[in-house]
Amino acid sequence: MEQKHVVVLGGGASGLMAALAAQSHGARVTVVEKNHRIGKKLITTGNGRCNYTNRHAQAQDYNNPDYVREVFSRFSPQDTIDFFQQLGIEPKDEENGKVFPMSEQASSFLDVFLYEFGMRAIQLVLDATVESVERIGHRFRVHILNASSIEADRIVIALGGKAFPLSGSTGDGEKIARMLGHESTELYPALVKLKIDSPYLSHLAGVKINTNVALLRDRDVVQVESGDLLFTPYGLSGPTILQLSRQANALLKNGHRPFIQFSLLPSTPEASVRNRICKNPEKPLNQALIGLIHKRFIIPITKEIGIDSPGLLLKDVSEDQYEKLMELLYEWKMPINGSLGFSEAQITIGGVRLSQIDPATMASKIVKGVYFAGEVMDIDGPCGGYNLQWAWSSGFVAGINAAR
Ligand SMILES: Cc1cc2nc3c(=O)[nH]c(=O)nc-3n(C[C@H](O)[C@H](O)[C@H](O)COP(=O)(O)OP(=O)(O)OC[C@H]3O[C@@H](n4cnc5c(N)ncnc54)[C@H](O)[C@@H]3O)c2cc1C
Repeated sequence: MEQKHVVVLGGGASGLMAALAAQSHGARVTVVEKNHRIGKKLITTGNGRCNYTNRHAQAQDYNNPDYVREVFSRFSPQDTIDFFQQLGIEPKDEENGKVFPMSEQASSFLDVFLYEFGMRAIQLVLDATVESVERIGHRFRVHILNASSIEADRIVIALGGKAFPLSGSTGDGEKIARMLGHESTELYPALVKLKIDSPYLSHLAGVKINTNVALLRDRDVVQVESGDLLFTPYGLSGPTILQLSRQANALLKNGHRPFIQFSLLPSTPEASVRNRICKNPEKPLNQALIGLIHKRFIIPITKEIGIDSPGLLLKDVSEDQYEKLMELLYEWKMPINGSLGFSEAQITIGGVRLSQIDPATMASKIVKGVYFAGEVMDIDGPCGGYNLQWAWSSGFVAGINAAR
């Protein structure tokens, strides 16, 4: 069989995997990347440590489980661990199934890819922004801004989504897919910090609590996450908020006004707090809360329950104020205004419609010879190694099939 020239558009996680897979299945491979180096986003992942997969990742953790199931049946999280181990990256297991490289350096992935590319004569074309793809019969011409075009037998579109545009992912994948006749679902940011409407943010900025955090639509609980909740000058951050942000943005998009609800005392029974307060009627309110909750919440609480002086004695706190105090301690609600958007988001929700891509091969059903991989597609997962896992699995399947 004649050797195919596979041109991979995008040198992010999915494109790098597609390139190795295509080469190992007999293709000549060229990777076109707009930055002056590959994997700019990859080296920022996992706070520079790269949480590259998750041992618990399953199809049902993603937005389109049936589709992901088919792709994972061809390249699973365990295949990912084995694949990178063969290239030299030893796995380091952490909590909740998260896997990092033993070196604790995301840059290890770039070093490994660059070494393998050199050994396998995979060509890298850097500082090269793909502007369009032209069809010439069954082949393609990839047009690059201010440079000569590249001809290809097959192309893999691995140009990412719109999240974290500083890394180079600015939504070009969706544009190029559209130029070739594909459709995309609506795109919005996720795994992103939320903006909150509260007069107490500047006072609370920097406070971190470990608690249960719920996302509410009106009074209904939509999703609950446990872990760190961080207060910032604009709103809320931390792992709990990132996980809730997908649904929060979806609610905002559909015109709802969602709320974040959190407990200041997730492991203290309400009865014991009521008892502590009732037993000390001569104590000032602020003193009664010291040692129970983070001190920075005391002033916001007293203001919220309508008390001018935090030093008011407990016996002078009215019944209504007392009940409001208990509500704030256990179910404080803050309205969500929005999110920090694509510029700060870790992933993009939405992408090229899955009905137009064959999950067995990642081949376009619209244009023969075009393949897709990674975040450019309408697949997303939670925080914790799930999104890179999608990039590796889809990249591998796209690469081997593009080479055939
Ligand atoms: C700060 C941060 C931390 C993250 N941490 C984790 C984590 O620990 N674990 C995890 O699983 N996921 C993490 N993610 C998500 C994960 O990084 C992405 O899901 C994954 O990188 C997507 O891979 P991709 O190849 O589809 O796209 P990308 O990695 O976005 O790669 C696309 C590439 O295409 C290039 N490109 C774009 N347009 C053009 C063009 N016109 N011409 C040429 N090249 C172009 C871009 O420069 C880029 O290099 C994190 C994301 C961010 C932003």
